[in-house]
Amino acid sequence: MNDIILLKLGELVLKGLNRRNFEEKLMFNAKRRLHLYGSFKIYTRQSITYVEPLSDDCDMDGAFEAMKKVFGAADVCRCRSCEKDKDAMLAAVKEFLDPQLRAAGTFKVECKRSDKSFPLNSIQLAQYLGGELDDAYPELKADMHHPDLTVYVEVREDAAYVHGNPDAGAGGLPVGMGGRAVSLLSGGIDSPVASWMMAKRGLCLEMVHFFSYPYTSEEAKQKVLDLAKILTPWTGRLVVHVVPFTAIQEELRRSCPEELFTILMRRFMMRIAAEVARRTGAGALVTGESLGQVASQTMEAMQCTGAVTDLPIFRPVVGMDKEEIIRISRKIGTFETSILPYEDCCTVFTPRHPRLKPTVAECEAAEAALDVDAMLKAAVDGIERVRISIE
Ligand code: ATP
Ligand code: MG
Repeated sequence: MNDIILLKLGELVLKGLNRRNFEEKLMFNAKRRLHLYGSFKIYTRQSITYVEPLSDDCDMDGAFEAMKKVFGAADVCRCRSCEKDKDAMLAAVKEFLDPQLRAAGTFKVECKRSDKSFPLNSIQLAQYLGGELDDAYPELKADMHHPDLTVYVEVREDAAYVHGNPDAGAGGLPVGMGGRAVSLLSGGIDSPVASWMMAKRGLCLEMVHFFSYPYTSEEAKQKVLDLAKILTPWTGRLVVHVVPFTAIQEELRRSCPEELFTILMRRFMMRIAAEVARRTGAGALVTGESLGQVASQTMEAMQCTGAVTDLPIFRPVVGMDKEEIIRISRKIGTFETSILPYEDCCTVFTPRHPRLKPTVAECEAAEAALDVDAMLKAAVDGIERVRISIE
């Protein structure tokens, strides 16, 4: 018989009446990720989502790895189905979990019986299987409290299912449950991590990248598209809105005080991102800013950038050290790409002495010399939308 995959739902089981919506979103997202690995049946019973292959040629290893990246599942396990017969279950456990049974020092068996017509109750079945495994693996000791390995056996209507310790799932909430947000994605380390963290809280993301061709190269843009691609197993497919930013930067350099260049540039980024949000129905912005990391990330600077939009701005890494951010970027696989040495639009025309504590009034005074609306319109009209399918 086939293996199947179980997703044990995390936080979302707590959501009371909303629970059904959460489950449906999780199943929808899981289904989209599974296309690459064959055709599967997917359904949820009692806070467990079941992923069953519909043919023998499904790539179960690929599907299992993909399911570990679906937000909303706390645990993911691969299990073997077998006939509802105690010896068939024992054989399935011995075959399927043999490597774990050999590696573990201690174990216990936990059974669940939703088919009440099965002749043994859960305790009797656990005792039978535990005794047989104890005999079959002389090195292995029973431990009811802190076993290295728990052998789970579930007797359901259609079949029995066997699995060992689950793998950690991605946690969080299903993407889309929290609505939509626009994430400002640079080629750096922080913004892919910030995007991932907000997707984990259930946001569906639209990516915006500011591109300063020819000051920054095609390779620099490709790097950002590559970063987006690396995020798709978690976020689902993405659109990267690539905004031509050179004209705005040149105009700021021509018309504004040099020490305000960076903060004014960031205000334009926020305005453009807010316009993309309006057009895509998004209700928030996301950035990878971390307090004090660079001159433009002081709280005064954040006040100046936040002042151009009413949308909430989520900065999930604001209180994190670089080392903590890097740890996440390694975990999600963006680090190696983020450190590729291409220039970023923020490194073009960097002022020698950026203002550390700019005020909104100063920014507005500097912008009085500009035709802000025309600059925004030209940038937004020039947006190239790049679709990124799931990796
Ligand atoms: P990162 O590592 O994410 O690039 P950083 O430490 O380099 O961050 P900044 O360059 O000051 O910080 O950028 C702060 C935030 O502004 C970024 O995390 C990102 O959200 C946004 N941002 C900066 N440059 C761009 C860009 N070219 N396109 C889109 N967003 C950008
Ligand atoms: Mg950057």
